[in-house]
Amino acid sequence: MTETLKCLSPVDGSVYAERALMPLDEARAAVARARAAQPAWAARPIAERAEIVRRAVALIGEANDEIVPELAWQMGRPVRYGGEFRGFQERAHYMADISADALADLRIEDSAAFSRYIRRVPHGLVLVVAPWNYPYMTAINTIAPALIAGNAVMLKHASQTPLVGERIICALRDAGVPGDVAQNVFLSHDTTSALIGAGAFQFVNFTGSVGGGKAIERAAAGTFTGLGLELGGKDPGYVMEDADLDAAADGLMDGAMFNSGQCCCGIERIYVHESVYEPFLEKCVEIVSKARLGNPLDPETTMGPMAQVRFADLVRAQTDEAVAAGAKPLIDRALFPTDGGAYLMPQILVDVDHSMRVMREESFGPVVGIMRVKGDAEAIAMMNDSEFGLTASLWTRDADRAARVGDAIETGTVFMNRCDYLDPALCWTGCKNTGRGAGLSVLGYHALTRPKSYHLKKA
Ligand code: NAP
Repeated sequence: MTETLKCLSPVDGSVYAERALMPLDEARAAVARARAAQPAWAARPIAERAEIVRRAVALIGEANDEIVPELAWQMGRPVRYGGEFRGFQERAHYMADISADALADLRIEDSAAFSRYIRRVPHGLVLVVAPWNYPYMTAINTIAPALIAGNAVMLKHASQTPLVGERIICALRDAGVPGDVAQNVFLSHDTTSALIGAGAFQFVNFTGSVGGGKAIERAAAGTFTGLGLELGGKDPGYVMEDADLDAAADGLMDGAMFNSGQCCCGIERIYVHESVYEPFLEKCVEIVSKARLGNPLDPETTMGPMAQVRFADLVRAQTDEAVAAGAKPLIDRALFPTDGGAYLMPQILVDVDHSMRVMREESFGPVVGIMRVKGDAEAIAMMNDSEFGLTASLWTRDADRAARVGDAIETGTVFMNRCDYLDPALCWTGCKNTGRGAGLSVLGYHALTRPKSYHLKKA
Protein backbone atom coordinates (compact mmCIF):
# COMPACT_ATOMS: atom_id res chain seq x y z
CA MET A 1 0.00 0.00 0.00
CA THR A 2 1.33 3.45 -0.90
CA GLU A 3 2.04 5.61 2.11
CA THR A 4 0.93 9.23 2.02
CA LEU A 5 2.08 12.39 3.71
CA LYS A 6 -0.48 14.86 4.98
CA CYS A 7 0.11 18.57 5.41
CA LEU A 8 -2.17 19.70 8.23
CA SER A 9 -2.74 23.44 8.00
CA PRO A 10 -1.95 25.33 11.19
CA VAL A 11 -4.68 27.81 10.25
CA ASP A 12 -7.51 25.45 11.17
CA GLY A 13 -6.09 21.92 11.41
CA SER A 14 -7.57 20.86 8.07
CA VAL A 15 -5.70 18.64 5.61
CA TYR A 16 -4.31 21.19 3.16
CA ALA A 17 -2.38 18.80 0.94
CA GLU A 18 -1.80 15.09 0.65
CA ARG A 19 0.90 13.42 -1.44
CA ALA A 20 1.98 9.83 -2.06
CA LEU A 21 5.38 8.97 -0.63
CA MET A 22 7.79 7.52 -3.17
CA PRO A 23 8.54 3.83 -2.52
CA LEU A 24 12.20 2.88 -2.19
CA ASP A 25 12.47 1.14 -5.57
CA GLU A 26 11.06 4.19 -7.36
CA ALA A 27 13.38 6.44 -5.40
CA ARG A 28 16.37 4.32 -6.44
CA ALA A 29 15.27 4.58 -10.07
CA ALA A 30 14.94 8.38 -9.72
CA VAL A 31 18.47 8.51 -8.33
CA ALA A 32 19.79 6.47 -11.26
CA ARG A 33 18.11 8.80 -13.76
CA ALA A 34 19.52 11.86 -12.00
CA ARG A 35 23.04 10.46 -12.02
CA ALA A 36 22.77 9.53 -15.70
CA ALA A 37 21.55 13.02 -16.62
CA GLN A 38 24.09 14.98 -14.55
CA PRO A 39 27.22 14.82 -16.77
CA ALA A 40 25.47 16.46 -19.74
CA TRP A 41 24.20 19.20 -17.44
CA ALA A 42 27.70 19.70 -16.03
CA ALA A 43 29.07 19.97 -19.58
CA ARG A 44 27.00 23.08 -20.27
CA PRO A 45 28.70 26.45 -19.68
CA ILE A 46 28.36 27.91 -16.18
CA ALA A 47 26.78 31.07 -17.59
CA GLU A 48 24.05 29.03 -19.26
CA ARG A 49 23.23 27.16 -16.05
CA ALA A 50 23.21 30.43 -14.10
CA GLU A 51 20.84 31.99 -16.64
CA ILE A 52 18.43 29.07 -16.36
CA VAL A 53 18.39 29.43 -12.56
CA ARG A 54 17.66 33.15 -12.93
CA ARG A 55 14.76 32.35 -15.25
CA ALA A 56 13.38 29.90 -12.69
CA VAL A 57 13.61 32.57 -10.00
CA ALA A 58 11.64 34.95 -12.22
CA LEU A 59 8.94 32.30 -12.69
CA ILE A 60 8.60 31.90 -8.92
CA GLY A 61 8.28 35.70 -8.71
CA GLU A 62 5.45 35.65 -11.25
CA ALA A 63 3.57 33.15 -9.08
CA ASN A 64 4.10 35.10 -5.84
CA ASP A 65 0.47 36.19 -5.49
CA GLU A 66 -0.59 32.54 -5.40
CA ILE A 67 2.37 31.50 -3.26
CA VAL A 68 1.74 33.96 -0.40
CA PRO A 69 -1.64 32.58 0.75
CA GLU A 70 -0.40 29.05 0.02
CA LEU A 71 2.43 29.66 2.50
CA ALA A 72 -0.03 30.96 5.08
CA TRP A 73 -2.07 27.79 4.76
CA GLN A 74 0.94 25.48 4.87
CA MET A 75 3.01 27.00 7.65
CA GLY A 76 1.09 29.96 9.07
CA ARG A 77 3.09 33.05 8.06
CA PRO A 78 0.79 36.09 7.72
CA VAL A 79 0.08 37.20 4.15
CA ARG A 80 0.92 40.82 5.03
CA TYR A 81 4.63 39.95 4.80
CA GLY A 82 4.34 39.04 1.12
CA GLY A 83 6.17 35.72 1.14
CA GLU A 84 9.87 35.10 0.66
CA PHE A 85 10.48 36.19 -2.88
CA ARG A 86 12.81 39.10 -2.05
CA GLY A 87 15.27 36.94 -0.10
CA PHE A 88 14.82 34.01 -2.46
CA GLN A 89 15.76 36.17 -5.43
CA GLU A 90 18.56 38.00 -3.61
CA ARG A 91 20.29 34.75 -2.69
CA ALA A 92 19.86 33.02 -6.06
CA HIS A 93 20.96 36.10 -7.99
CA TYR A 94 24.00 36.63 -5.80
CA MET A 95 25.07 33.02 -6.28
CA ALA A 96 24.52 33.34 -10.03
CA ASP A 97 26.49 36.63 -10.11
CA ILE A 98 29.58 35.17 -8.42
CA SER A 99 29.49 31.77 -10.12
CA ALA A 100 32.03 32.44 -12.87
CA ASP A 101 34.64 33.69 -10.41
CA ALA A 102 33.84 31.22 -7.63
CA LEU A 103 34.08 28.25 -10.00
CA ALA A 104 37.00 29.49 -12.08
CA ASP A 105 40.12 27.35 -12.31
CA LEU A 106 42.84 28.24 -9.85
CA ARG A 107 45.79 28.67 -12.21
CA ILE A 108 49.12 27.76 -10.65
CA GLU A 109 51.37 27.65 -13.71
CA ASP A 110 50.95 28.26 -17.43
CA SER A 111 54.40 27.95 -18.93
CA ALA A 112 56.04 26.26 -21.90
CA ALA A 113 56.81 23.31 -19.61
CA PHE A 114 53.72 22.95 -17.44
CA SER A 115 50.09 23.65 -17.14
CA ARG A 116 49.02 23.25 -13.52
CA TYR A 117 45.65 24.21 -12.13
CA ILE A 118 42.92 23.25 -9.68
CA ARG A 119 39.41 22.92 -11.05
CA ARG A 120 36.19 22.83 -9.03
CA VAL A 121 34.08 19.94 -10.30
CA PRO A 122 30.52 19.11 -9.23
CA HIS A 123 29.99 16.32 -6.74
CA GLY A 124 27.34 14.61 -8.91
CA LEU A 125 23.93 14.23 -7.26
CA VAL A 126 23.10 16.49 -4.31
CA LEU A 127 20.21 15.75 -1.96
CA VAL A 128 18.63 18.84 -0.42
CA VAL A 129 16.53 18.23 2.71
CA ALA A 130 14.70 21.46 3.49
CA PRO A 131 12.62 22.74 6.44
CA TRP A 132 9.24 24.44 6.41
CA ASN A 133 10.06 27.59 8.41
CA TYR A 134 11.45 29.55 5.43
CA PRO A 135 10.69 26.92 2.85
CA TYR A 136 11.70 28.88 -0.28
CA MET A 137 14.76 30.63 1.08
CA THR A 138 16.32 27.67 2.89
CA ALA A 139 15.88 25.46 -0.18
CA ILE A 140 17.29 27.91 -2.71
CA ASN A 141 20.45 28.43 -0.60
CA THR A 142 21.66 25.04 -1.83
CA ILE A 143 19.61 24.37 -4.96
CA ALA A 144 20.82 27.44 -6.87
CA PRO A 145 24.57 26.99 -6.33
CA ALA A 146 24.36 23.20 -6.62
CA LEU A 147 22.76 23.41 -10.07
CA ILE A 148 24.92 26.30 -11.24
CA ALA A 149 28.00 24.28 -10.23
CA GLY A 150 26.81 21.42 -12.46
CA ASN A 151 25.26 19.04 -9.95
CA ALA A 152 21.94 17.28 -10.30
CA VAL A 153 19.59 18.00 -7.39
CA MET A 154 17.01 15.93 -5.61
CA LEU A 155 14.80 17.96 -3.26
CA LYS A 156 13.08 16.38 -0.28
CA HIS A 157 11.07 19.18 1.21
CA ALA A 158 9.36 19.19 4.60
CA SER A 159 6.02 17.40 4.90
CA GLN A 160 4.61 20.70 6.22
CA THR A 161 5.38 22.49 2.93
CA PRO A 162 4.99 19.94 0.12
CA LEU A 163 3.78 22.48 -2.43
CA VAL A 164 7.00 24.45 -2.14
CA GLY A 165 9.17 21.61 -3.45
CA GLU A 166 6.78 21.11 -6.33
CA ARG A 167 6.76 24.78 -7.24
CA ILE A 168 10.54 25.21 -7.12
CA ILE A 169 11.29 22.15 -9.23
CA CYS A 170 8.49 22.96 -11.68
CA ALA A 171 9.94 26.48 -12.15
CA LEU A 172 13.42 25.06 -12.73
CA ARG A 173 12.11 22.67 -15.36
CA ASP A 174 10.04 25.34 -17.08
CA ALA A 175 13.15 27.49 -17.13
CA GLY A 176 15.16 24.79 -18.90
CA VAL A 177 16.66 22.41 -16.33
CA PRO A 178 16.29 18.87 -17.77
CA GLY A 179 13.67 16.86 -15.89
CA ASP A 180 15.98 14.28 -14.39
CA VAL A 181 18.54 16.89 -13.28
CA ALA A 182 16.16 18.53 -10.80
CA GLN A 183 13.60 16.34 -9.10
CA ASN A 184 11.16 16.88 -6.26
CA VAL A 185 10.63 13.73 -4.23
CA PHE A 186 8.32 12.93 -1.33
CA LEU A 187 10.34 10.55 0.81
CA SER A 188 9.82 9.02 4.23
CA HIS A 189 12.69 9.29 6.70
CA ASP A 190 13.40 5.57 6.27
CA THR A 191 13.63 5.83 2.49
CA THR A 192 15.86 8.90 2.79
CA SER A 193 18.17 7.06 5.18
CA ALA A 194 18.22 3.94 3.01
CA LEU A 195 19.27 5.96 -0.03
CA ILE A 196 21.94 7.87 1.88
CA GLY A 197 23.21 4.65 3.44
CA ALA A 198 23.53 3.08 0.00
CA GLY A 199 25.71 5.99 -1.14
CA ALA A 200 23.08 7.31 -3.57
CA PHE A 201 24.17 10.92 -3.16
CA GLN A 202 27.59 12.48 -3.38
CA PHE A 203 26.53 15.32 -1.11
CA VAL A 204 23.60 15.88 1.27
CA ASN A 205 22.62 19.29 2.55
CA PHE A 206 20.28 18.96 5.52
CA THR A 207 18.61 21.97 7.15
CA GLY A 208 16.54 21.17 10.19
CA SER A 209 16.64 19.96 13.76
CA VAL A 210 19.62 18.55 15.63
CA GLY A 211 17.84 15.19 15.89
CA GLY A 212 17.30 15.12 12.13
CA GLY A 213 20.94 16.08 11.53
CA LYS A 214 22.11 13.23 13.73
CA ALA A 215 19.89 10.76 11.84
CA ILE A 216 21.36 11.94 8.53
CA GLU A 217 24.90 11.66 9.88
CA ARG A 218 24.17 8.14 11.11
CA ALA A 219 22.67 7.17 7.75
CA ALA A 220 25.76 8.46 5.94
CA ALA A 221 28.27 6.78 8.26
CA GLY A 222 30.84 4.80 6.32
CA THR A 223 29.70 6.04 2.90
CA PHE A 224 31.98 9.11 2.79
CA THR A 225 29.03 11.15 1.55
CA GLY A 226 29.74 14.86 1.96
CA LEU A 227 27.40 16.52 4.45
CA GLY A 228 26.27 20.05 5.12
CA LEU A 229 24.28 20.24 8.36
CA GLU A 230 22.47 23.47 9.21
CA LEU A 231 20.76 22.75 12.49
CA GLY A 232 19.19 24.41 15.50
CA GLY A 233 20.13 27.50 17.43
CA LYS A 234 19.61 29.46 20.64
CA ASP A 235 20.87 32.76 19.32
CA PRO A 236 21.75 35.47 21.82
CA GLY A 237 21.54 39.24 21.67
CA TYR A 238 23.72 41.52 23.80
CA VAL A 239 22.72 45.12 24.39
CA MET A 240 25.69 47.21 25.55
CA GLU A 241 25.35 50.39 27.56
CA ASP A 242 26.07 52.64 24.56
CA ALA A 243 23.47 51.00 22.27
CA ASP A 244 20.72 52.90 20.50
CA LEU A 245 18.00 51.41 22.68
CA ASP A 246 15.10 52.07 20.31
CA ALA A 247 16.91 50.32 17.47
CA ALA A 248 18.01 47.49 19.77
CA ALA A 249 14.49 46.87 21.07
CA ASP A 250 12.98 47.06 17.57
CA GLY A 251 15.61 44.81 16.03
CA LEU A 252 15.75 42.22 18.78
CA MET A 253 11.99 41.94 19.25
CA ASP A 254 11.57 41.50 15.52
CA GLY A 255 14.35 38.89 15.62
CA ALA A 256 12.62 37.09 18.48
CA MET A 257 9.00 37.23 17.30
CA PHE A 258 8.93 37.38 13.49
CA ASN A 259 7.50 34.24 11.87
CA SER A 260 6.21 33.35 15.37
CA GLY A 261 9.81 32.91 16.43
CA GLN A 262 10.34 30.09 13.93
CA CYS A 263 13.59 31.40 12.53
CA CYS A 264 16.79 29.37 12.69
CA CYS A 265 18.66 32.55 13.65
CA GLY A 266 15.81 34.01 15.70
CA ILE A 267 16.78 35.71 18.95
CA GLU A 268 15.98 33.40 21.88
CA ARG A 269 17.87 35.05 24.76
CA ILE A 270 19.04 38.58 25.43
CA TYR A 271 21.68 39.95 27.82
CA VAL A 272 21.42 43.63 28.66
CA HIS A 273 23.89 45.89 30.41
CA GLU A 274 22.45 46.62 33.85
CA SER A 275 22.55 50.39 33.30
CA VAL A 276 20.06 50.19 30.40
CA TYR A 277 18.11 47.10 31.46
CA GLU A 278 14.91 48.77 32.67
CA PRO A 279 14.40 51.21 29.76
CA PHE A 280 15.21 48.42 27.30
CA LEU A 281 12.56 46.18 28.86
CA GLU A 282 9.93 48.92 28.70
CA LYS A 283 10.52 49.40 24.99
CA CYS A 284 10.38 45.68 24.32
CA VAL A 285 7.10 45.25 26.18
CA GLU A 286 5.57 48.17 24.30
CA ILE A 287 6.56 46.67 20.93
CA VAL A 288 5.50 43.10 21.64
CA SER A 289 2.17 44.10 23.20
CA LYS A 290 1.13 45.53 19.82
CA ALA A 291 1.38 42.16 18.03
CA ARG A 292 -1.86 40.92 16.47
CA LEU A 293 -2.19 37.17 16.78
CA GLY A 294 -4.68 35.57 14.44
CA ASN A 295 -5.57 34.10 11.08
CA PRO A 296 -2.56 34.59 8.79
CA LEU A 297 -4.86 35.20 5.81
CA ASP A 298 -6.14 38.39 7.49
CA PRO A 299 -3.97 41.31 6.34
CA GLU A 300 -4.20 42.87 9.84
CA THR A 301 -2.54 39.84 11.47
CA THR A 302 1.13 40.33 12.36
CA MET A 303 1.60 36.97 14.08
CA GLY A 304 0.12 33.76 12.72
CA PRO A 305 -0.12 30.30 14.27
CA MET A 306 2.96 28.17 14.78
CA ALA A 307 3.33 25.48 12.14
CA GLN A 308 2.05 22.71 14.41
CA VAL A 309 0.19 22.55 17.72
CA ARG A 310 3.01 20.48 19.22
CA PHE A 311 5.52 23.28 18.53
CA ALA A 312 3.30 25.74 20.43
CA ASP A 313 2.86 23.24 23.25
CA LEU A 314 6.63 22.85 23.59
CA VAL A 315 7.04 26.61 24.01
CA ARG A 316 4.14 26.71 26.48
CA ALA A 317 5.80 23.96 28.50
CA GLN A 318 9.17 25.75 28.54
CA THR A 319 7.47 29.00 29.58
CA ASP A 320 5.33 27.41 32.29
CA GLU A 321 8.33 25.57 33.74
CA ALA A 322 10.35 28.79 33.83
CA VAL A 323 7.51 30.68 35.52
CA ALA A 324 7.15 27.89 38.08
CA ALA A 325 10.88 28.27 38.79
CA GLY A 326 10.60 32.02 39.39
CA ALA A 327 10.60 33.68 35.96
CA LYS A 328 8.27 36.62 35.41
CA PRO A 329 6.21 37.00 32.21
CA LEU A 330 5.95 40.62 31.10
CA ILE A 331 3.30 40.34 28.38
CA ASP A 332 -0.30 40.44 29.55
CA ARG A 333 -2.28 37.36 28.46
CA ALA A 334 -5.46 39.43 28.30
CA LEU A 335 -4.07 41.21 25.24
CA PHE A 336 -4.15 37.93 23.30
CA PRO A 337 -7.62 36.38 23.52
CA THR A 338 -6.89 34.31 20.38
CA ASP A 339 -4.12 32.35 22.17
CA GLY A 340 -4.72 28.58 22.05
CA GLY A 341 -3.76 25.51 20.02
CA ALA A 342 -1.23 26.42 17.34
CA TYR A 343 -1.89 30.13 17.99
CA LEU A 344 0.66 31.17 20.60
CA MET A 345 0.91 34.65 22.09
CA PRO A 346 4.36 36.25 22.27
CA GLN A 347 6.04 36.35 25.66
CA ILE A 348 9.01 38.07 27.28
CA LEU A 349 10.43 36.44 30.41
CA VAL A 350 12.64 38.11 33.01
CA ASP A 351 14.13 36.75 36.23
CA VAL A 352 15.32 33.81 34.15
CA ASP A 353 18.60 31.92 34.48
CA HIS A 354 20.50 29.23 32.63
CA SER A 355 19.09 26.40 34.72
CA MET A 356 15.80 26.91 32.83
CA ARG A 357 15.07 25.02 29.63
CA VAL A 358 13.78 28.19 28.02
CA MET A 359 17.32 29.62 28.25
CA ARG A 360 19.12 26.46 27.15
CA GLU A 361 17.05 24.46 24.67
CA GLU A 362 15.85 25.72 21.34
CA SER A 363 12.32 27.15 21.69
CA PHE A 364 11.74 27.99 18.02
CA GLY A 365 8.75 30.05 19.10
CA PRO A 366 7.71 33.56 20.18
CA VAL A 367 9.31 33.62 23.61
CA VAL A 368 12.50 35.34 24.71
CA GLY A 369 14.28 35.44 28.05
CA ILE A 370 16.09 38.61 29.08
CA MET A 371 18.85 38.83 31.71
CA ARG A 372 20.91 41.73 33.03
CA VAL A 373 24.72 41.57 32.88
CA LYS A 374 27.51 43.71 34.35
CA GLY A 375 29.63 43.95 31.20
CA ASP A 376 31.35 42.22 28.30
CA ALA A 377 33.00 39.41 30.24
CA GLU A 378 29.76 38.23 31.80
CA ALA A 379 27.85 38.65 28.52
CA ILE A 380 30.43 36.62 26.62
CA ALA A 381 30.33 33.84 29.21
CA MET A 382 26.52 33.75 29.04
CA MET A 383 26.41 33.79 25.25
CA ASN A 384 28.90 30.93 25.10
CA ASP A 385 27.04 28.91 27.72
CA SER A 386 25.05 27.06 25.06
CA GLU A 387 25.27 23.89 23.01
CA PHE A 388 24.51 25.95 19.88
CA GLY A 389 26.39 28.51 17.82
CA LEU A 390 24.59 30.03 14.82
CA THR A 391 24.52 33.83 15.22
CA ALA A 392 25.04 36.44 17.94
CA SER A 393 23.68 39.96 17.74
CA LEU A 394 25.61 42.79 19.43
CA TRP A 395 24.13 46.24 19.93
CA THR A 396 26.60 49.10 20.43
CA ARG A 397 27.90 52.20 18.70
CA ASP A 398 31.47 50.91 18.91
CA ALA A 399 32.41 48.65 15.97
CA ASP A 400 35.84 47.82 17.43
CA ARG A 401 34.24 46.62 20.64
CA ALA A 402 31.69 44.58 18.70
CA ALA A 403 34.49 42.92 16.75
CA ARG A 404 36.43 42.24 19.98
CA VAL A 405 33.41 40.74 21.73
CA GLY A 406 32.56 38.86 18.53
CA ASP A 407 36.04 37.29 18.52
CA ALA A 408 35.26 35.69 21.87
CA ILE A 409 31.86 34.25 20.94
CA GLU A 410 31.51 30.68 19.72
CA THR A 411 29.22 31.39 16.79
CA GLY A 412 28.84 31.13 13.04
CA THR A 413 27.98 34.81 12.45
CA VAL A 414 28.55 37.98 14.49
CA PHE A 415 26.03 40.75 13.85
CA MET A 416 26.36 44.33 15.04
CA ASN A 417 23.14 46.37 15.24
CA ARG A 418 21.14 43.83 13.26
CA CYS A 419 20.05 40.23 13.49
CA ASP A 420 18.08 37.46 11.83
CA TYR A 421 19.38 38.01 8.30
CA LEU A 422 21.32 35.88 5.83
CA ASP A 423 23.78 37.89 3.76
CA PRO A 424 24.40 35.78 0.64
CA ALA A 425 27.90 37.21 0.29
CA LEU A 426 28.84 35.81 3.72
CA CYS A 427 29.16 32.19 4.66
CA TRP A 428 26.08 30.72 6.39
CA THR A 429 27.50 28.33 8.95
CA GLY A 430 27.36 27.30 12.57
CA CYS A 431 29.45 25.62 15.21
CA LYS A 432 28.81 23.23 18.11
CA ASN A 433 25.43 21.47 17.76
CA THR A 434 24.32 23.93 15.10
CA GLY A 435 26.14 21.71 12.66
CA ARG A 436 28.88 22.12 10.15
CA GLY A 437 29.51 23.14 6.61
CA ALA A 438 29.21 26.30 4.57
CA GLY A 439 26.22 27.70 2.74
CA LEU A 440 25.99 30.69 0.37
CA SER A 441 28.99 32.89 -0.54
CA VAL A 442 32.00 31.68 -2.47
CA LEU A 443 32.50 29.02 0.22
CA GLY A 444 29.06 27.61 -0.59
CA TYR A 445 30.41 26.78 -4.04
CA HIS A 446 33.41 25.11 -2.46
CA ALA A 447 31.10 22.90 -0.39
CA LEU A 448 29.08 21.88 -3.45
CA THR A 449 32.08 20.98 -5.60
CA ARG A 450 35.29 19.05 -5.12
CA PRO A 451 38.77 20.17 -6.10
CA LYS A 452 40.42 18.33 -8.97
CA SER A 453 44.09 18.95 -9.72
CA TYR A 454 45.58 19.01 -13.22
CA HIS A 455 49.34 18.58 -13.51
CA LEU A 456 50.15 18.64 -17.23
CA LYS A 457 53.83 18.35 -18.20
CA LYS A 458 54.17 19.53 -21.75
CA ALA A 459 57.68 18.45 -22.62
P1 NAP B 1 13.14 18.68 11.17
O1 NAP B 1 12.03 17.98 11.83
O2 NAP B 1 14.51 18.19 11.38
O3 NAP B 1 12.78 18.69 9.61
C1 NAP B 1 13.55 19.40 8.66
C2 NAP B 1 13.57 18.59 7.36
O4 NAP B 1 14.28 17.40 7.60
C3 NAP B 1 12.21 18.14 6.85
O5 NAP B 1 12.25 18.06 5.45
C4 NAP B 1 12.07 16.76 7.47
O6 NAP B 1 11.18 15.94 6.78
C5 NAP B 1 13.47 16.27 7.32
N1 NAP B 1 13.87 15.24 8.26
C6 NAP B 1 13.88 15.29 9.61
N2 NAP B 1 14.37 14.15 10.14
C7 NAP B 1 14.69 13.37 9.08
C8 NAP B 1 15.22 12.06 8.95
N3 NAP B 1 15.52 11.34 10.01
N4 NAP B 1 15.40 11.56 7.71
C9 NAP B 1 15.09 12.29 6.63
N5 NAP B 1 14.58 13.54 6.67
C10 NAP B 1 14.37 14.06 7.88
O7 NAP B 1 13.15 20.20 11.56
P2 NAP B 1 11.91 21.14 11.74
O8 NAP B 1 11.45 21.10 13.12
O9 NAP B 1 10.92 20.89 10.67
O10 NAP B 1 12.60 22.55 11.42
C11 NAP B 1 13.00 23.39 12.41
C12 NAP B 1 14.44 23.16 12.78
O11 NAP B 1 15.26 23.52 11.67
C13 NAP B 1 14.89 24.05 13.91
O12 NAP B 1 15.70 23.30 14.78
C14 NAP B 1 15.69 25.13 13.21
O13 NAP B 1 16.65 25.74 14.03
C15 NAP B 1 16.31 24.36 12.11
N6 NAP B 1 16.73 25.24 11.02
C16 NAP B 1 18.06 25.54 10.90
C17 NAP B 1 18.49 26.41 9.90
C18 NAP B 1 19.95 26.77 9.79
O14 NAP B 1 20.31 27.39 8.79
N7 NAP B 1 20.82 26.42 10.71
C19 NAP B 1 17.58 26.96 9.02
C20 NAP B 1 16.21 26.65 9.18
C21 NAP B 1 15.81 25.78 10.18
P3 NAP B 1 9.66 15.76 7.28
O15 NAP B 1 9.03 17.08 7.25
O16 NAP B 1 9.10 14.83 6.26
O17 NAP B 1 9.73 15.17 8.66
